[in-house]
Amino acid sequence: MQSATDVAIVGAGVVGLACAAFLARAGRSVIVVERNERPGGETTSRNSEVVHAGLYYPEASLKARLCRAGREALYARCEARGVSHRRTGKLVVATESGEVAALEAICTSGTANGAPGLEIVDAAAVAAQEPDVSAVAALVSPDTGIVDAMALCLDYAAEAEEYGAALVYRTEIVEIGRTDFGWRLHARDAAGGTSEVDCAAVVNAAGLAGDTLAERAGFDIDARGYRLHYCKGDYFSLAPGAPVRISSLVYPVPAGPGMGVHATVDLGGRVRFGPDAEYVDAVCYDVDSAKAADFGRVVRRYIPTLRDEWLAPDYAGVRPKLAAPGEGFRDFVVAEESDAGFPGFVNCLGIESPGLTASPAIALRVTELLGSL
Ligand SMILES: Cc1cc2nc3c(=O)[nH]c(=O)nc-3n(C[C@H](O)[C@H](O)[C@H](O)COP(=O)(O)OP(=O)(O)OC[C@H]3O[C@@H](n4cnc5c(N)ncnc54)[C@H](O)[C@@H]3O)c2cc1C
Repeated sequence: MQSATDVAIVGAGVVGLACAAFLARAGRSVIVVERNERPGGETTSRNSEVVHAGLYYPEASLKARLCRAGREALYARCEARGVSHRRTGKLVVATESGEVAALEAICTSGTANGAPGLEIVDAAAVAAQEPDVSAVAALVSPDTGIVDAMALCLDYAAEAEEYGAALVYRTEIVEIGRTDFGWRLHARDAAGGTSEVDCAAVVNAAGLAGDTLAERAGFDIDARGYRLHYCKGDYFSLAPGAPVRISSLVYPVPAGPGMGVHATVDLGGRVRFGPDAEYVDAVCYDVDSAKAADFGRVVRRYIPTLRDEWLAPDYAGVRPKLAAPGEGFRDFVVAEESDAGFPGFVNCLGIESPGLTASPAIALRVTELLGSL
């Protein structure tokens, strides 16, 4: 393959495909190159599938802004294009009075971030809504919901193809070089064949390998703070027939690098718990069944009747975190890198949660960043 295109996108996860759909619709010729044999096989299919309201992020951060814009665009897209989703609502629960101040702080930051309809309710209101949940108070977020993440990803792929984008699978970008007209991507397919893609612009939507790809293009990822750290999250599902009913999403007050082990329902009504958060050296998706006791202990703080034997290991995802262990908040990087000497190169890095929710807003931003090229 030797092809020339306006934009080459590396990675066919939800971010790369959203970018492909938006750029192709804007009239750009687009190629998406994906190393796996199908789209969305990595982080996009290994998450909580929650459409976040944007409660926790610092005001004016990209995470806050793209989450808000993304949520609104995502619900509108799902309704217009028949992608399965539901506005389930979410409770952030305080299980002791000492946590109520944290709920109030989340309510303030969420409201500043544009999350609609937030209110703090008492224990009786929680019991009326979720009889199996025990809490002294809860923050209610009515606009939080769930979406079928793979259906969303495939819908972006369909739209991208409808507008002429080429999606190439089982092909890895192994080297990136500069040319007079932009960039040359060197690819290797699953059979060992090599090819090249010439393009004016590159979108790095390589998820967990985003830092490796940036390094291949010549970025000093340590100097720019672009090194990714893997933070694994395991999920356990509730055994069929176990007597626990959850109708919305129930989150603890967050502590640590994730949002806390929460209870979610999926679109099929299945209840699951997770993810926990553990920094790891390598990507691995095994779930250790022995963790059931830890999950049981954490979840029993808000679902006291839960028993460890009702928990079955389910799946895991790995967060591509810019924040190293113990480091504070790090924002998404969605940047056109002319200032660093890489014109036409857009990095999407550190796209952990709420990246699924933010996907249409990230795609719009990338399209705008490449607007003048
Ligand atoms: C445990 C967990 C829970 C989460 N929960 C939520 C949630 O509830 N709501 C929410 O909004 N977000 C959530 N997220 C975040 C969300 O899942 C991600 O932000 C989103 O899926 C990122 O998509 P992506 O396209 O950037 O990455 P990916 O889906 O990882 O796609 C990147 C793609 O790039 C490909 N690739 C990499 N390198 C190359 C190369 N050199 N050549 C070719 N292809 C390459 C990979 O194969 C991969 O398919 C969660 C994440 C995790 C880990």
